[in-house]
Amino acid sequence: MHEFRWRLLWLSIPTLLLCLLLWPLAGLEYALGALALAAIVYLLAHFYWLEKLAKWLKQPELATMPIGSGIWEDVFAALYQEIRRQTSSQTQLSSALERFQHAASALPDGVVLLNTSDQIEWCNPPAEVQLGLRLAQDTGQPIGYLVRQTEFTSYLQAQDYTESIKLNTLRNPDITLEVQLIPFGDKQKLLLCRDITPMEKLETMRRDFIANVSHELRTPLTVVGGFLETLEDMESGIPESTRQYFKLMLEQTVRMRHLVEDLLTLSQLESSQNVPQETEIEIPSLLNMVMTEGESLSNGRHRLLLEADSSICLTGATEELHSAFGNLVSNAIRYTPEGGDITLKWGLRGDSAEFCVTDTGLGIEPQHISRLTERFYRVDRSRSRATGGTGLGLSIVKHILTRHQARLEIQSEVGKGSTFSAVFPAARVVRKNPIPDRKESAA
Ligand code: ADP
Repeated sequence: MHEFRWRLLWLSIPTLLLCLLLWPLAGLEYALGALALAAIVYLLAHFYWLEKLAKWLKQPELATMPIGSGIWEDVFAALYQEIRRQTSSQTQLSSALERFQHAASALPDGVVLLNTSDQIEWCNPPAEVQLGLRLAQDTGQPIGYLVRQTEFTSYLQAQDYTESIKLNTLRNPDITLEVQLIPFGDKQKLLLCRDITPMEKLETMRRDFIANVSHELRTPLTVVGGFLETLEDMESGIPESTRQYFKLMLEQTVRMRHLVEDLLTLSQLESSQNVPQETEIEIPSLLNMVMTEGESLSNGRHRLLLEADSSICLTGATEELHSAFGNLVSNAIRYTPEGGDITLKWGLRGDSAEFCVTDTGLGIEPQHISRLTERFYRVDRSRSRATGGTGLGLSIVKHILTRHQARLEIQSEVGKGSTFSAVFPAARVVRKNPIPDRKESAA
């Protein structure tokens, strides 16, 4: 700008001096005429360079850029610098993009870049193979049109991408994929998919093995148990010390039978992904049954109380929920010393429904709480065994609740007692006309 002003000054001073000289020599008209001529020449020069610029802008290549003169030399020089800067940063950007694409293409897992409308922007070759995409044809297509499995559609729509999902490809149902969406930037998403067929096969083998072994053990255990019961019941000919052995053997056989039953239940829960036969369950009547079973297990040693909101029902699998609720009540009884209170509550918590079992029992130290639903995890192994525990009860509860999209919450204080709550999502809650229900049994 500074330079421009100087240039203007250098051009205008001689022109003005010339006109001032002409004025006394040739008169005012000639002087003004010369001034006007100089202004026209100046303007024409600008039009010339403007025209050149307009022409060049139609095909803006660095090599053909005009050099310009006067102020236009500066304009073209500045433009040249700017375009060079832009070209170099564009080259850097595209080479970075190319490097990223090369790296992502070399990944063994599938990667798909989705824009804010879930349309495909780019994908690597493994994603093409695993999801049946064609980058050349499918760029710009919504991913939901091309990956059509209902599990994926619900996953995409749910907008909760914290967990991955398993998909069986439509072209080859024997192939299992693990798919996860990762949101990034401004509502864009990265879809990652991995072929987990070998791991799934191993998992199925493990499940089948446990199920088969448990199944095979069931019959011999029933036979041994039956004979032991007969021997124990025999009136004469057996010394009292031997009868004691039979009693112990029978106890262990029953324990093994429970273990086998629990293992079978777990493998059945694991092998079928969906909840069987969902019906509308009258939870209060189900809880009356659970309560009766609890009373029989407690055998009058505890005070059991049931508070159920009879207007709240649930959709789910009756047998599974019976087993889960029964396990929680059985634990409360087994881990509460004689004379303790056990309260069963069923009702609403906000929009969700919850079943709580509160006991005044031993309680659990905080460090154990997060691990209680692991298979065979016991806080006190000998107590669990002594009360007929298998170490699988809470694992079964957790599985059943997960199949019902419910969660297990555990609150406990050592020496004071525990509360185990099964919280069910609002979508499973069915509301009916309220009839207050309250049942008590005294110790
Ligand atoms: P188990 O057959 O040993 O009871 P579970 O899976 O049902 O196995 O429970 C795991 C462990 O959690 C138990 O061994 C016990 O230590 C603890 N536990 C479960 N319920 C209670 C409870 N109501 N009070 C105290 N401890 C409990």
